[in-house]
Amino acid sequence: MQKYDVVVVGAGFAGLTFAKTLPSQYSVLLLESKRTVGENMNTTGLCTRTSVELLSRYIPLEDYGGNAITGISFTGPDFNGEILSRLPFTWLYSTDPGKILKSLAKVLPDNVGIRTGTAFLGCDFEPSREFPVEIRVRSSGCVERIQTRFIVGCDGVRSAVARESDLDQNRHYLACGEGVYPGQLLLPGAEKTVYHFWGVDDCPGYGGWVVPNSHNGQRVLQIGIANYHEYRYHDRRLKAFMNSLVERGAIRLDSWEPVLRHGGLIPIGGPLRQTMNDHALLLGDAAGMCGALIGDGIKPAIIAGKIGSRAVDRHLHGDRSALSNFRRDCNDEFGVFTYLYKQKVDRILFDRLIETNSLPLLFEVLSMRSESVLPSMYHLHHQSRSLVNMTFFLKATPTLLQMFWRLGVGESVLKGKEFLQNLAGAGRELMAAEES
Ligand SMILES: Cc1cc2nc3c(=O)[nH]c(=O)nc-3n(C[C@H](O)[C@H](O)[C@H](O)COP(=O)(O)OP(=O)(O)OC[C@H]3O[C@@H](n4cnc5c(N)ncnc54)[C@H](O)[C@@H]3O)c2cc1C
Repeated sequence: MQKYDVVVVGAGFAGLTFAKTLPSQYSVLLLESKRTVGENMNTTGLCTRTSVELLSRYIPLEDYGGNAITGISFTGPDFNGEILSRLPFTWLYSTDPGKILKSLAKVLPDNVGIRTGTAFLGCDFEPSREFPVEIRVRSSGCVERIQTRFIVGCDGVRSAVARESDLDQNRHYLACGEGVYPGQLLLPGAEKTVYHFWGVDDCPGYGGWVVPNSHNGQRVLQIGIANYHEYRYHDRRLKAFMNSLVERGAIRLDSWEPVLRHGGLIPIGGPLRQTMNDHALLLGDAAGMCGALIGDGIKPAIIAGKIGSRAVDRHLHGDRSALSNFRRDCNDEFGVFTYLYKQKVDRILFDRLIETNSLPLLFEVLSMRSESVLPSMYHLHHQSRSLVNMTFFLKATPTLLQMFWRLGVGESVLKGKEFLQNLAGAGRELMAAEES
């Protein structure tokens, strides 16, 4: 039976960064169920400056492709109103994520073996063995067994490693779909802006987006929608959204046939609690490390891979507190868990506003502070503020009162109480993350 010091499941952003940064004294096997790394990507690929800076330590910057973005635009429910927030520098890049992952796979050190087309099926733990984890994998229809000292679950939102290791699993998702279409945005400053559309018909929980990018030297638009998982993703909703954009003169499409399609689930329940034990660690989406409101998970996945490899190295050297310090270390260096908990609080607020048809009121409040929207929504240099604290200011009081009436008192006291309890719970987690 083959034996490795560490087996990593999933060659996405988290798994590849982990494998790249783990010290080379370990024998490492990286398992990927797809036939090749970076195929059929399930992401738009918007990367923040920090992601690009981190990745550019490993692969040449010109491999990223795409656009430099300085602004973000939010269009209100039913296409009413616009909040445009811009920064004097590039804070986001639209990229070719498949190409990034392929490039990362090429620069992995010799101690890392990659097996693509190989799916992790399950594992058993026997602490008394020298290699306590025995893994079952399927490759070309055959099942085989591999032993390892430690398994790292970077296998995404529906992590089989989490399930098999009795760790926490994601339970709340958005279902998303996106097509990449040759075409152009027809709005001023468009190529440097990403566009979000709240409250698109039939897409509760998120809405739609348009991202200008390039694909094989051609100008393209990435157009997508996301909604609560229970509503499933439907192609007809995407087409209806595209129709609205064309009718409003926001975009011109050279073809309605996408050159690429992306789709998948985004975890929106916030960071999971139980994500490690003596022989296993979850990273990235598998650990719920994705912005619960806006669904940005690339940067947390890269940071998790980088800090996670250091924690596993120390753990394998006998440091018993190395894994439990993982969150603190991620936070000290990148403020990532503070951001993720703020996003969780924002998601709770957002969900309740949707439930009570109050999104237009929130939009009204945010419009009064449009210049702060961008730093509040995205994780920018540790300065992100939460949507909740951004909405409280004097001028907004009448609108806020209306909003809270709808949120709690106006309905049943019970629902209001439940909402406040949720909010308080998320707030406590946020404070604990900030303290650590
Ligand atoms: C439509 C969409 C658009 C998005 N857009 C953005 C964006 O623009 N910016 C952003 O920051 N975030 C975005 N996200 C979120 C972001 O893509 C993820 O948070 C991020 O990719 C998570 O990286 P990861 O490495 O943890 O997991 P993943 O990228 O999901 O990688 C997991 C890997 O594990 C493999 N795998 C799964 N199960 C097994 C198994 N049993 N055996 C072997 N291999 C397995 C998968 O094939 C995959 O390659 C988007 C998500 C979606 C769905």
